[in-house]
Amino acid sequence: MFCKKIVKLSVFGLKNVSGRGQVLSAAVFRNQHSKAEQHGQPTSIRPETSTAKTLMDIGTRRIFNEDHDIFRQSVRRFFQEEVVPYHHEWEKAGQVSREVWEKAGEQGLLGVSIPEEHGGIGGDVFSSAITWEEQMYSNCSGPGFSLHSDIIMPYIVKYGSKEQIECFVPNMTAGKCICAIAMTEPGAGSDLQGVRTYAKKDGSDWILNGNKVLISNGWMADLVVVVAVTNRDAKTAAHGISLFLVEDGTKGFQKGRKLEKIGLKAQDTAELFFEDVRLPSSALLGQLNKGFYYLMNELPRERLVIADMAIASCEFMFEETRNYVMQRKAFGKTIAHLQTVQHKLAELKTEICVGRTFVDNCLQLLSEKRLDPSTASMAKFWASDLQNKVATQCLQLHGGWGYMWEYPIARAFVDSRIQPIYGGTNEIMKELIARNIVSTN
Ligand SMILES: Cc1cc2nc3c(=O)[nH]c(=O)nc-3n(C[C@H](O)[C@H](O)[C@H](O)COP(=O)(O)OP(=O)(O)OC[C@H]3O[C@@H](n4cnc5c(N)ncnc54)[C@H](O)[C@@H]3O)c2cc1C
Repeated sequence: MFCKKIVKLSVFGLKNVSGRGQVLSAAVFRNQHSKAEQHGQPTSIRPETSTAKTLMDIGTRRIFNEDHDIFRQSVRRFFQEEVVPYHHEWEKAGQVSREVWEKAGEQGLLGVSIPEEHGGIGGDVFSSAITWEEQMYSNCSGPGFSLHSDIIMPYIVKYGSKEQIECFVPNMTAGKCICAIAMTEPGAGSDLQGVRTYAKKDGSDWILNGNKVLISNGWMADLVVVVAVTNRDAKTAAHGISLFLVEDGTKGFQKGRKLEKIGLKAQDTAELFFEDVRLPSSALLGQLNKGFYYLMNELPRERLVIADMAIASCEFMFEETRNYVMQRKAFGKTIAHLQTVQHKLAELKTEICVGRTFVDNCLQLLSEKRLDPSTASMAKFWASDLQNKVATQCLQLHGGWGYMWEYPIARAFVDSRIQPIYGGTNEIMKELIARNIVSTN
């Protein structure tokens, strides 16, 4: 198990081996950033997406600066060199390789906005956004990096004990400890208060029983944050839920099959089973019975990650389609000459740029710790719906070729479909937005 592995290494005087990647990565990250500082261009003249040559141009959007541009270049290179060439193979395998996680760790692409003193890279929220946007620009949904770095790591850093942080975070930053979060159960998805997985106190230990489904990174996970009931007599279910850190290899913890999905084919989505899993008291993450409160606190961030990925995917699909219609010929001319095609592109570009502005504003709010649940829900619901609209219309502009797997738009189309479902369905997003509208307090 993970912490034990580190202890073993330290016995041989290699205490820092598992964290070495992380130390190097932080240095690489700082170096990339300081190079940019020497160029000293004013940030005020950066074009917005709507006026840039392409929607994926480097050097655009006022939330970024030249440091970010240099970082973005290196992230773009990483996805082109280390992910794109292998993705087809990973789709067949239903999972990515362990090596790509470690390479991402070496390059400083995991735990980017986790503070350095906690074992992360120490970058800002915008640098993190670059990593997930570039993944969407590469059209490779396989590696579950954003879930690992931007959704799960913050739980450990915010609510974990010093020992838990020291044990897991540097290894997660190095790509040596892959993480999943297990909320959903066969009978509880949208209604999180309906979870049945139960942790019963036994002396100072806990005995965990239950099962989880549809868990991203579930098959490859070395560590799983598990949502479980710890007080069945609480005044509401929300008052009796806690989070536990369960390591792969713990007796009684078993992974089921990798689930076959219509999209995200290179991502390992799995079922997890817990049968009389004995956990020490140190496996509890944060305070007892505070799990639901932690989930509510962290979900806005998760929803914004999905929203930004959705807009980035729209930007990718738009550019892919622009290139296609400018070379595809029909009736003696390229189809880009057809006014209906031009108007469709005009509509799509307008909607994408409107969405980009709102989501960039939300990123700014997140960086100032001012992103509220309702605004994050608006971003998630609107951007993921837009992504599906753009996917349908861009595929249509590809004609029959858009239906062929070898065309990138086909993969982007199927990968879009999950976005209005996970991270809280879009119907639930509307519930959260509506609650604020009609609230009398
Ligand atoms: C590829 C993939 C990856 C996933 N990754 C993870 C993961 O890493 N960890 C994890 O814990 N979960 C994960 N999930 C699960 C995901 O979060 C759930 O599928 C999602 O929350 C919906 O729950 P459900 O599937 O049980 O649908 P249900 O809750 O059964 O919903 C069915 C339908 O009813 C609607 N509905 C339900 N309640 C309401 C309501 N109050 N008002 C209006 N409409 C409502 C829903 O919007 C939906 O349309 C993943 C799912 C997929 C497919």
